[in-house]
Amino acid sequence: MSKQYETVIGLEVHVELATKTKIFCSCSTEFGGAPNTHTCPVCTGMPGSLPVLNRQVVEYAAAVGLATNCSITRKCKFDRKNYFYPDNPQNYQISQLYEPICRNGYVEIDTPSGTKKIGIHEIHMEEDAGKLIHDEWEDCSLVDFNRSGVPLIEIVSEPDMRSADEVIAYLDKLRLIIQYLGASDCKLQEGSMRADVNLSVREVGSEKLGTRTEMKNLNSFKAIARAIEGEKERQIELLEMGRPVIQETRRWDDNKESSHAMRSKEDAQDYRYFPEPDLPPVIISDEWLEEIKARQPELRTEKLIRYKKEFDIPDYDAQIITSSKKMADLFEATTALCGKPKKVSNWLMVETMHLMKEHDMEADDLKFSPENLAKLIDLADAGTINSSVAKEVFEKVFLDDIDPDQYVEEHGLKTVSDEGALRSVIEQVIASNPQSVEDYRNGKEKAIGFLVGQTMKAMKGKANPGLVNQILKELL
Ligand SMILES: [Zn+2]
Repeated sequence: MSKQYETVIGLEVHVELATKTKIFCSCSTEFGGAPNTHTCPVCTGMPGSLPVLNRQVVEYAAAVGLATNCSITRKCKFDRKNYFYPDNPQNYQISQLYEPICRNGYVEIDTPSGTKKIGIHEIHMEEDAGKLIHDEWEDCSLVDFNRSGVPLIEIVSEPDMRSADEVIAYLDKLRLIIQYLGASDCKLQEGSMRADVNLSVREVGSEKLGTRTEMKNLNSFKAIARAIEGEKERQIELLEMGRPVIQETRRWDDNKESSHAMRSKEDAQDYRYFPEPDLPPVIISDEWLEEIKARQPELRTEKLIRYKKEFDIPDYDAQIITSSKKMADLFEATTALCGKPKKVSNWLMVETMHLMKEHDMEADDLKFSPENLAKLIDLADAGTINSSVAKEVFEKVFLDDIDPDQYVEEHGLKTVSDEGALRSVIEQVIASNPQSVEDYRNGKEKAIGFLVGQTMKAMKGKANPGLVNQILKELL
């Protein structure tokens, strides 16, 4: 009988914080400036320059810690992690090893067998490195220090995950918490959230952990899932052949769907950590912690409960709407304007999601305003426009955030409910479709649908369908 294996996975997640300025200087963190324009002596590692800690970084890190059930270290410290790399001008990175800001937390994920707690070992603050650009034409490498000193938190989980599904549920949970806190936009593709996967396999029933490898360069949930499957199989194959798994860092190549060894995995002692002499310890007072707690926004779990109570919308709707902060914000703002929560939810879940899919967009890319969605809902609700016109106008709102009142007026899209006008159009339709009229009179109820359709066509879609039906039946 072949052996049964279990996969053991822990994650190190780096998240770029949404501060306006860098962690130790006042340079902008804005993405995409010309190379080396957001730099100063501190973030380019000039001798004699001194770091000054950005207060907002501490507040975001503590906020994430509180939301993930961590205990907050009231006197935390920074340490130097020494290593040479061309994108790291100081030859060290300021990070936290001995006294990280948050410890011993957890988040809960949903799995097919129920809720599972994933432990968080610690969260620490650190600075990002610059970026190397390898120019193949000129056969040289260039360095851009704009990202050097951008604040990061690293969230280190316990090795509590057993499958790619659990890893993705955990990442999704973290992403939502952090987005709700406003601490980061957490975009994997743009690198504001990066996950390194530590994976080992062991025989089912074994208490001892196998040798782990670390995989880097995973920039989508799909890549993470594929990399986990690939690495699990690679390690099982080695063990089956009686060969050892080597502790190393591997780089996942999503195009080739395989990984290759990058370097042997370092231990802490390889970095010769020592306390950062240029920064004093960070003391988080009772008052400061209370201030941070008081500012914690409502998170998804709380929103779900409130939506059902306050807006009386189905659980299914609430789940979908709160699956992104952007969507939840849109829902609440639009509902506040028009007072019709279920209608707002329908527009978001049906038409909005449909168009997002069509245009390959994420909720964060939505540009339309709650004002214009509320106006559209009011127009449709009052019968000023019919449902097919409403969909057409919504597409304009979705794409260009147009003002529906103005658009309907300018394009003459108001529903025609003038009986006299409708009656004369319908008389013409009846006169030119004798076959359908006869079918209807001979008991074929469905034939009326064709006549309604012809009338709507003649009215360019702007007739009130209820009224058309009523007049047709009367005339027939
Ligand atoms: Zn700077």
